[in-house]
Amino acid sequence: MSRNKIIYGLNDLQADGLACPQCGANYLQVMIASVPVGHSVTGSQVHACVGQCAESVRAAIEAGHRVGGAR
Ligand SMILES: [Zn+2]
Repeated sequence: MSRNKIIYGLNDLQADGLACPQCGANYLQVMIASVPVGHSVTGSQVHACVGQCAESVRAAIEAGHRVGGAR
């Protein structure tokens, strides 16, 4: 598990660690515990919800797949 992976294909909120790249939860609007899962191309830390979201994002990163995406 690496926290230094660059995550591509995120929208602005996700790239700034303000939204979950997996489920799209906006951390500015909802209180959800999140954990860092990597970094965006801007160098900001990307966070995902603790649990299933973080696991899914990490799995996708390890598999070399794009995570999230512009909506
Ligand atoms: Zn989530």
